[in-house]
Formats: sequence, C-alpha cells, structure tokens
Amino acid sequence: MAPQVLTILGSTGSIGVSTLDVVARHPEQFQVYALTGATQLDKLHDQCLAFAPRFAVVLDDGAAEVLRARLKASGSETEVLCGEAALEAVASATIVTAVMAAIVGAAGMRPTLAAARAGKRVLLANKETLVLAGRLFMDEVTRCGATLLPIDSEHNAIFQVLPRAYREAPYASTLRDAGLKRILLTASGGPFRTRSLDTLAQVTPEEAVRHPNWSMGRKISVDSASMMNKGLEVIEARWLFNADVDEIAVLVHPQSVVHSMVEYVDGSVLAQLGAPDMRIPIAYGMAYPARIDSGVASLDLFSVGRLDFEAPDLARFPCLRLAFDALRAGGAATAVLNAANEVAVAAFLDCGLDYPGIPALIESVLGDCVGQTRADSLDALMDADVLARERAHAWLARRH
Ligand code: NDP
Ligand code: MG
Repeated sequence: MAPQVLTILGSTGSIGVSTLDVVARHPEQFQVYALTGATQLDKLHDQCLAFAPRFAVVLDDGAAEVLRARLKASGSETEVLCGEAALEAVASATIVTAVMAAIVGAAGMRPTLAAARAGKRVLLANKETLVLAGRLFMDEVTRCGATLLPIDSEHNAIFQVLPRAYREAPYASTLRDAGLKRILLTASGGPFRTRSLDTLAQVTPEEAVRHPNWSMGRKISVDSASMMNKGLEVIEARWLFNADVDEIAVLVHPQSVVHSMVEYVDGSVLAQLGAPDMRIPIAYGMAYPARIDSGVASLDLFSVGRLDFEAPDLARFPCLRLAFDALRAGGAATAVLNAANEVAVAAFLDCGLDYPGIPALIESVLGDCVGQTRADSLDALMDADVLARERAHAWLARRH
C-alpha cells in the first residue's frame, strides 16, 4: 500500500509530538509532508531533521527567517513558509492524504476547514473548530467527502463503539434510528475534583495544569481543571455524532480508563478502555480501519483495581453548566463561549486572573453578546469570536 502523506498542524505541541512518535514506529506507512509550529522553533528544527518534511510552517516572517537559517546550517532541505495562507496550503495540498489538526484554539479552525474542503482524512484533535463552527464544519465534511476521525480520546472511544455505518455517516440517520439511546462521556474531574470549594480562589496556574492522569498542553489542562474541557467535548460530541444535547450525559470517572461509552436501546452499554495515552486514538485515526502498534503498554486492570463513576458537581464546575447553556442557546453562543474561555484561560495563566474569574468572565461575556451575534456564515461566526474577545478584554480591564 502507498504510504499516507501527512501534514501535522501543531507538530510542536503535545498531540503533535505523540503523532510523530507513532509515525516513527511505522516509517513504511507514513510520510511527513509538512510540520507546523508557532513559538518552539528549536523543537520544529529538530523535528524537520528527524522527519525531513517538504515544508515547515510558522506564524510570521521573523520566525521563518530564524528557522530557515538554522535548517540551512543543519543541511536540511525543508522549505520554510509562514502565515495562515501557508497553513491552509499545506493542509490542502493535492499530495497530502491525511491532516492531523492539532493547533490549539480557534487559530486551528481555518486550516482544519481547508483540509476538510480538500476532502482529506482529517484527524481532528482541535475541538475548538467544532465549538466555533460545528454545523458549518460538518456540512463541509459531508459536502467535500472528507473522512473525519476524532482524536479527542472520548470521541475516539465513542467512534470505536458506534455501528460502523453510523460512525461513517452520522448525518444519514439519527442516533435513535441507529439503535442508540445515549452517549456517556467520561471526565476525570481533573486536579480539583475533591479540593475544598472555599480554597479555589487560591488555585495557581501550576496546580491547574498538573493533571492527575493525562499529560497535555497548558490550555487544555486548565480546561480540564475547570471542566470547560468536558463542556467543549459535549459540544464536540453533538456535532461529530449528530446527537441531541439531551442524548449526551457526562460521568466523572477519576481513573480515566474508560474513555467513553454508548448505550444502545436494548440496554447494552459498550465502552472503549485503555491507558490514558493519546497515542492510542492517534494510531487508531492514522490507520483506520486497520489497527497498528501505538507504542502504548498493555492496560493492567489489576493495578487499576477499580473503576469509579460519579455525577459531575455543577456548583464546583460552573464552566460545564455554561457550556451546556451555550449549546442549548444555539446560534453563535458556543463561538462566544469558546472565545471568552480562551481569553480567560490566557489571563489566568499569564496575567493574574484568579481561577473563579474564569467562569465569571465567560458568563458575563455570554450575557453581553446574546442577541448581537449570528451563526449563518463563517464570517458571522468569526465576528462573534472577535466581539467576544473584545468584551472579554473589556471585562478584564474593568476588573484590574
Ligand atoms: P499544545 O499547546 O501542546 O500545542 C499546540 C500547538 O499549536 C503547538 O504546535 C503550537 O506551537 C501551535 N500553536 C499555538 N498557537 C498557534 C497559533 N496561533 N497558530 C498556529 N499554531 C499555533 O496543545 P495540545 O497538543 O495539548 O492540544 C492541541 C489541540 O488538541 C487542542 O485543540 C486540544 O484541545 C486538543 N486535544 C489535546 C489533547 C492532549 O492530550 N493534549 C487531548 C484531546 C484534544 P508552539 O508550541 O510551537 O508554540
Ligand atoms: Mg478529551
């Protein structure tokens, strides 16, 4: 079989590095066409030497010049491009067969959309694309014949246990008609699941990014602590699986071994289990429908010992409630939620916003933007994103 030709958007991040780890295990099956990064130029340089892509893409001219000079000095033939148009170009080039969408945040949306429009196999880690523009993105996937493979571990688990016909064409019927009752999305509960509520105002960024089970980028780690990550994943599941909001339930499962489940109408519940290592869903997406070695050790259920489940506490995790509210509100509300969350998390990590300030900011911006945003085109959604960021910065300016 001809090898898959891969573009990895966000190769210097946590998902990008795990993807390259899987590629390195199967050099005959995968060839790297392009790698992209933003700030970690040393890492991108080293990745280019190891995987010899045709292109490396960075954000601006300055970074491109630095990387170009370093690669030349190392004898690399990789060509360096920059800017959003270049990201879209390497995501849609004719020779590319698969695109790993692993840029963090709304910045990942346009190149991911470009990959879908070019009919690629899209390995979707960037959940923000679906939160920002779920309906539009799914319409383009269907219209352009792209193959969408969820990489987020929960959605990958759900994908694995859905009937094949349904997972490959979820908009050709409904969950009900495919014999399903609901999706059971598991959540670890993050580092603050049992922390006393009256100490949450003292939470530091270092504590928030220290996830008990998963090693991930900083933004998604804070989202996991606040459970906004699960909220974004509920929205992601709604679009990926053509599910109604009431067909999606969240279960806190602290061991992170059951990656998610579906319940069929006959009462059967099917789950996918595994070690909490993103190389499993990445390898699944890369080789689908075949299976390949991901490099992950066997799951030792004896050392796991027990699997616990509890209901999420919405007083402890107001971000989860806000995400459900935004999904129910419809329109551009989830785009507003996503943008406000990105500003809030960045302010928490870098500018001293306290941890309870994250949901406070998001709730205020959602209220502010209601009735002022539309979702009927990509431009309207991008306007909603911009408006929400402006309102979020104004909220921060008032706070300080
Ligand atoms: P990281 O922060 O580790 O990596 C993000 C990547 O995006 C890096 O390559 C970074 O470059 C690049 N990047 C950052 N900002 C921009 C920008 N404005 N334009 C272009 N590129 C940019 O994130 P993760 O790998 O953890 O997550 C990536 C995506 O996958 C997120 O959407 C996340 O929600 C999702 N995801 C991640 C999981 C995980 O286990 N990590 C699990 C499930 C989903 P550089 O580092 O060079 O600055
Ligand atoms: Mg997840």
